[in-house]
Amino acid sequence: MKIAVIGAGIVGSLIARKFTRYKVDVEIFEKLPDVGWGVTKANSGILHAGYDDEPNTLRAKYCSRGNEMYTALSEELNFEIKRTGSLVVAFNDEETKIVEELLKRGKTNGVKELRILSKFEALEIEPNLSREVVSALYSPNAGVIAPWEVAQAAVENALNNGAKLHLSTEVKSISKEGEKYKLNTSKGFFSFDAVVNAAGLWADELAESAGVKVTPIHPRRGQYILLDQPNAVRTVIFPTPSRAGKGILVLPTVHNTTLLGPTSEDLPPNEKEATDTTAEYLAKIVEKAKKLVPLVNLSKTIRTFAGLRPENDIKDFVIKRENNMIHIVATRSPGLTAAPAIAEDIVEEIVEKFDLQKRDNFNPVRKAIPKIADMGDEEKEKLISQNPSYGRVICRCNKVTEGEIVEAIKNGARTLDGIKFRTAAMFGRCQGSFCTVKIMNIMKRELGKDFEDITKNLPNSNVVDGVVR
Ligand SMILES: Cc1cc2nc3c(=O)[nH]c(=O)nc-3n(C[C@H](O)[C@H](O)[C@H](O)COP(=O)(O)OP(=O)(O)OC[C@H]3O[C@@H](n4cnc5c(N)ncnc54)[C@H](O)[C@@H]3O)c2cc1C
Repeated sequence: MKIAVIGAGIVGSLIARKFTRYKVDVEIFEKLPDVGWGVTKANSGILHAGYDDEPNTLRAKYCSRGNEMYTALSEELNFEIKRTGSLVVAFNDEETKIVEELLKRGKTNGVKELRILSKFEALEIEPNLSREVVSALYSPNAGVIAPWEVAQAAVENALNNGAKLHLSTEVKSISKEGEKYKLNTSKGFFSFDAVVNAAGLWADELAESAGVKVTPIHPRRGQYILLDQPNAVRTVIFPTPSRAGKGILVLPTVHNTTLLGPTSEDLPPNEKEATDTTAEYLAKIVEKAKKLVPLVNLSKTIRTFAGLRPENDIKDFVIKRENNMIHIVATRSPGLTAAPAIAEDIVEEIVEKFDLQKRDNFNPVRKAIPKIADMGDEEKEKLISQNPSYGRVICRCNKVTEGEIVEAIKNGARTLDGIKFRTAAMFGRCQGSFCTVKIMNIMKRELGKDFEDITKNLPNSNVVDGVVR
């Protein structure tokens, strides 16, 4: 039995990994050169509690369950979750009513430990919150993750358990040939017994190629500002939501930076790569973020970026089955939170259908790259004495060592962004100004590549023309 999973975002990665528990051949197809570089790369990274989603939607069904599943997942795959909690802040009585509605909705959705805080309770939890706060909905279960890290970890674990990964391989269409499905890809044809389409922004077009009608996706852009302002906030802070969505937030990241955003801009369906940022929307972010947390300091800006939500008109995920194909479409927010629960249901469905048996030798554990910056002195000394390259700091901002960069290359990093998103080197305040060349030298040595052939991320994103001296 052979199963194809199309898309190595958070959804496809977790599905592929889950399949490797069973006696089945799993192959993952990803059009980009690395894992987790689609929608999963640029978003708020919040594990939502689940009070925001309309009851009886797939979002409501999967969000709080997915949130809970992340704890066990992080123990197996060794990625970081900060359970920061979240606040939805009301600034007047009208907003307080909306916050109370959210509490009711959360209870209907089965969200645990939600409660309304008074002004003083809210300020106690979040001292830097605006003094204008009147009340807030508090959810201790909300948290933040680095979403791409989860996708990488899941794929690494899936590969260790026998899955096959086809990077830089675009699936152009799916067709049926007898009982099999034929994938027409940029690297030739492949045949499978079952197909899971988790292609993010392009899942609708891929479903259409297989003759399956789904609600069309249009991108909804979210722009962000990332600040090198550690500890500006402790929790994820939302304004009271409006019809346009959850609004502009202020939140801490797992890398101890502060994130402001996202905007909510509906774009036409043909703009699925329009990740530009604009002065107009960045100004709106600043205005709204300062209303929530007056001390946000824009002089600490590290960078701006944008992500694209795979949105549809019904504002819900769509999971469409056709024989042995499953299309997961419009994985808008809270798709990241929901992903483990979606993966569990999709895999169980196919397991039952094909009566798949468990493998005896499945290893659920993925080892993370050791992080010198997070270690105590004794642990550091031990590691450095075993491998001195962990004593050579390459990225000064985030204190990433040569040992970590070499390990990232062993885990599959082939580009500068591959290293950045595995180690957090080049992620800090200097954004690689000091360490990029040092990292390129390590890549040259480890991969036997010429300097000129090293790329930032996509093909042709080479960073140097040649070596001067
Ligand atoms: C601005 C913004 C904020 C968000 N904030 C949150 C949040 O805080 N919490 C939350 O829970 N959710 C959030 N979300 C939603 C969340 O990011 C998504 O639901 C989730 O990342 C979707 O994952 P995915 O695997 O479906 O898509 P992707 O990550 O896009 O993965 C799909 C993959 O398929 C690949 N692919 C596409 N077409 C093909 C093809 N033809 N052949 C081969 N490969 C293909 C793509 O390259 C991509 O890597 C946010 C989204 C955005 C944009």
